[in-house]
Amino acid sequence: MLEEFADLEREYRAFADEHVAPHAALIDREECIPTEVVEALRNAGLFATGFPSRDQDPIAANLRHGLVHEALGFASASVQGLVNVHHMAGSAIARWGSPAQKEHWVPRLASGEVKAALAITEPNVGSDAAAVETRAVVDGDAWLLRGAKCWITYGQNADLFVLLAATEQGGTAFLVPRRSANLHIEPIRGVLGCRGYMLARLHLDGVRLSSEHLLGKPGFGLTHVMATGLESGRYNLAWGCVGLARACLDASLEYAHERRQFGAPLASFQLVQQMIARMMTEVHAARLVCWHAGVLRARRDPSAIKEATMAKYYASTVVNRVAHDTLQIHGANGCGSGSPIERYVRDARIMEIIEGSTQVLELAIARYGYQERG
Ligand SMILES: Cc1cc2nc3c(=O)[nH]c(=O)nc-3n(C[C@H](O)[C@H](O)[C@H](O)COP(=O)(O)OP(=O)(O)OC[C@H]3O[C@@H](n4cnc5c(N)ncnc54)[C@H](O)[C@@H]3O)c2cc1C
Repeated sequence: MLEEFADLEREYRAFADEHVAPHAALIDREECIPTEVVEALRNAGLFATGFPSRDQDPIAANLRHGLVHEALGFASASVQGLVNVHHMAGSAIARWGSPAQKEHWVPRLASGEVKAALAITEPNVGSDAAAVETRAVVDGDAWLLRGAKCWITYGQNADLFVLLAATEQGGTAFLVPRRSANLHIEPIRGVLGCRGYMLARLHLDGVRLSSEHLLGKPGFGLTHVMATGLESGRYNLAWGCVGLARACLDASLEYAHERRQFGAPLASFQLVQQMIARMMTEVHAARLVCWHAGVLRARRDPSAIKEATMAKYYASTVVNRVAHDTLQIHGANGCGSGSPIERYVRDARIMEIIEGSTQVLELAIARYGYQERG
C-alpha cells in the first residue's frame, strides 16, 4: 500500500524542497514565516487537505494529508506547525459548525484565504484544559468574553481563532475573528524551538460576539469541538515528527559517510552504525503507526482516536531520540548556529510538549487500555 503513494510523496517532497526548505534557517532566525511561503502553500492547495472532500477515497485523503505534514515537517517544523493549527481549527469548524458557519468559513479556510488558529492554553491552564479561566457570559443578545490565552501558534497572523472559554454550561467554543474589538494580540518571541510558530498571547478585554460566533453547543467546547481539533493535531503532528526525524536520519547518513576520523569514515564505526540502525528502525516504525492511524481514521474506526494519540506519542518521542543521536554523530559541527542540526534538536523538543504532553498522552493511552480490558 505504501508504494501506491510514492508519486504523491515525491510531489510533496519536491514542493517542500523548493518552497519551504530554502527558508527554514531564516524562519528560525527571524521567528517569522515569509508571506511567499504561505502563498506557495496556498497555491499548491496544501491548506485544503485537512477538510472533508467528497470526491476522494477517505483512505487516500487521510494518507495524502499525512504525507503533506510529513513533507513539511521534513523541510521546516515551523511551517508544519502553521498548517497544523490551521487544520486543527478548520477540522473543528468543519465538524461542529452550523450549516451557515460551514458555508461561510470552510471554503475560505480550505483555500487558505482565511488562516485559523486554536486557542486553549492560558497563563494558569495548560494540560488541564477543563479549567480554563477565560469567561464568556451572555450580555443581551451577545456573548462577552474576558480572559487571556497564551502560546497560541500563528497567533500573530491568524485571521480567526477557535477559542475555548468557560460558560455556565461548561467549556464552550467560540469563533473569534482577529479584528474583534477589544482583542489585543501580543507576540511571544525567543522560544526554544519551532521559532517560526509566530506565537502570541491573546488578551480578551471584553470581546463582544454575536451568537453566530458560538461553535457547537454551550458546554460541548472541550469534549467535542476542541477534541476534534486536538485529534486532528495529534495525527498531523505525528506525521510532522516523522518528517523531522527523516531529515535528521538523512543528515546523519550523509555526515557519517563524509566525516573521517582515525583514518576512516564515521560510517565504518560500529557504535555509529548502532545509532543509525536504531534511528532507521524507529523512524520506519513511527511512520507505520501514522499510516495505520490514517487508515483507521478514514474508516471512522472506534479505535482511531487512540491510534492517533499513540502515533503522536510515539513519533514525538522517536524524533527526540533521533535528533539527539543526529547531534551526537555530528559532534561540534552540529552545535553551531550555521548547522540545521541544532535547530532539529530544538524543534524536536517542542513536539513532546504540544498537542498533549508526553505524560498526558501516556495517561490517556493507559486509560484506553484499561477501557478495552473492560
Ligand atoms: C511552541 C508551543 C506552541 C503551542 N501552541 C499552542 C496553540 O496553538 N494553542 C494552544 O492552546 N496551546 C498551545 N501551546 C500550549 C501547549 O498546548 C501546552 O504547553 C501543553 O498543553 C502543556 O501545558 P503546559 O505547558 O502549561 O504544561 P503543564 O500542564 O503545566 O504541565 C507541566 C508538566 O507537568 C506534566 N503534567 C501535567 N499534568 C500531569 C499529570 N496529570 N500527570 C503527569 N504529568 C503531568 C506535563 O506533562 C508537563 O511535563 C503551545 C506550546 C508551545 C511550547
